[in-house]
Amino acid sequence: MTYDRLVCANCAAPVAEGRCPVCRANRERLTPQNGLSPAMLLTLAIALLAAIALLAAVRTV
Ligand SMILES: [Zn+2]
Repeated sequence: MTYDRLVCANCAAPVAEGRCPVCRANRERLTPQNGLSPAMLLTLAIALLAAIALLAAVRTV
């Protein structure tokens, strides 16, 4: 996270504190949404494929 070091241009307080509507808007924009990011989904898909491949390899031995 880098937004916790940002200072708001509107109220001159750290954006992470969300003291004004501009802060809160920026914080919401910069904070990852509660869904998974594409990169995270890709990582999960690769991990799942690796697990399946490992399981298949173990079964064939
Ligand atoms: Zn502000």
